Amino acid sequence: AKELGRDNFQFYTEELHARINERLAMETGLRRALEHDEFELHYQPRVDLSSGKVTAVEALIRWNHPELGQIEPLRFVPLAEELGLIHRIGEWVLHESCRQQAAWQKAGVADLPVSINISGIQFVQKDFIKLLSRVLRETPLDPSRLELEITESLSMQDPENSIRVLRELKALGVRVAIDDFGTGYSNLHFMKQFPVDIIKLDRSFVQDIVRNPEDLAISNAVISMAHSLHLKVTAEGVESVAQLALLADHGCDEMQGYYFSPPLPMEQCTALLRESRTL
Ligand code: C2E
Ligand code: CA
Ligand code: CA
Ligand code: CA
Repeated sequence: AKELGRDNFQFYTEELHARINERLAMETGLRRALEHDEFELHYQPRVDLSSGKVTAVEALIRWNHPELGQIEPLRFVPLAEELGLIHRIGEWVLHESCRQQAAWQKAGVADLPVSINISGIQFVQKDFIKLLSRVLRETPLDPSRLELEITESLSMQDPENSIRVLRELKALGVRVAIDDFGTGYSNLHFMKQFPVDIIKLDRSFVQDIVRNPEDLAISNAVISMAHSLHLKVTAEGVESVAQLALLADHGCDEMQGYYFSPPLPMEQCTALLRESRTL
């Protein structure tokens, strides 16, 4: 038993060391990633359910790590937030997506809003509005072609402050979407005062919508509430025609998901946009 204990302990410390080393490697890597231009945006189209037309594209960050290959955002965004690097990464995402939108427009490919994910840490930062207005001034971009996705849980943390920031965003002319809706205990009293354009119904409800009556009921409630506030609803994570049909039946406005297209590298998304003839 003594032997086993020691082995276990050794195993445990080895694993711990491995984890600490991985974290350190990620941290060092993240600090260099911006200078070495290792980030890339993929784009996932959003589709109008009645016309079948692409209405917007969401920019989703990827990290092309020189040794580890492509890393998904959930594996590095939280660390970047912890290390305070998310500000610069977020600024890069903002610049890059504005630049891409303008390029698509200039090339006659599409003139659609690009939506970007805003970290809670960016959103509550004092200079966020300043940064945004500067980027909008520097890019030849109609502000209505930029959409910011703010998570529901974030916007409800300090609703009074969120309302204030959202009003400033509206004044700049950008669009706002509430992301992951249904997971963050919205306060309906505040929802009413949120100057937003779109609600994104969280993928967790869409996933089992065909089999689970409760998920269908929640989705319905979200759609009705959004419509009574004159907001559009985008369903996230639509993977099947059955999900699509149910959502369309219940008045959902738009969808995003593998059923139509996964997030695509820039060239592939450009090709898809050309084919869809959105102009
Ligand atoms: P999100 O904003 O909820 O983005 C949707 C996620 O669902 C994306 O994962 C997308 O690839 C995935 N997805 C889309 N359609 C389907 C589907 O039909 N089925 C399934 N199973 N998944 C689908 P991704 O790209 O790994 O991003 C994960 C999260 O990372 C995002 O969730 C967002 O919160 C965050 N994120 C991504 N890009 C950025 C960024 O530039 N900045 C910040 N702050 N966060 C980002
Ligand atoms: Ca999002
Ligand atoms: Ca989402
Ligand atoms: Ca999510």
